[in-house]
Amino acid sequence: MSGTFGVFRIMNESYYQRNKIHILDWRKKNKDKPWYQWWNRKYSELRIKALQKISGLEHPLCIRCGCSNPKFLEVNHKNGRKGEKFKARLFWKAIVEGTRPTKDLEITCRVCNVIDFVEKTYKVRYKIEFLGA
Ligand SMILES: [Zn+2]
Repeated sequence: MSGTFGVFRIMNESYYQRNKIHILDWRKKNKDKPWYQWWNRKYSELRIKALQKISGLEHPLCIRCGCSNPKFLEVNHKNGRKGEKFKARLFWKAIVEGTRPTKDLEITCRVCNVIDFVEKTYKVRYKIEFLGA
């Protein structure tokens, strides 16, 4: 897997650096567990692959707070959705297949996704801290 996403890792080096502590911390605590253990069947492999592709990371993280629990991770549209309508599955598929560019997308957790929306809409600022599981 890391080979496939190696290119993205390089592209997102700063992203990786910013979240390094969280990644290393999680890996240390979960040495013997597969990283995807948190995922239930509802979160398909397709979704995981899409999150990996957007983030450029094997273990996707929220870019704002570093939340690493994949259950909470969502795709955030940096500039708003601009009327783009899609069925989730088709959206994931297009990302994985490369037909939907990911430049305007980023990974945030559910909390930060809402905050991002509120900040943009009401021109306010929040500081969110992920304190772990
Ligand atoms: Zn977050």
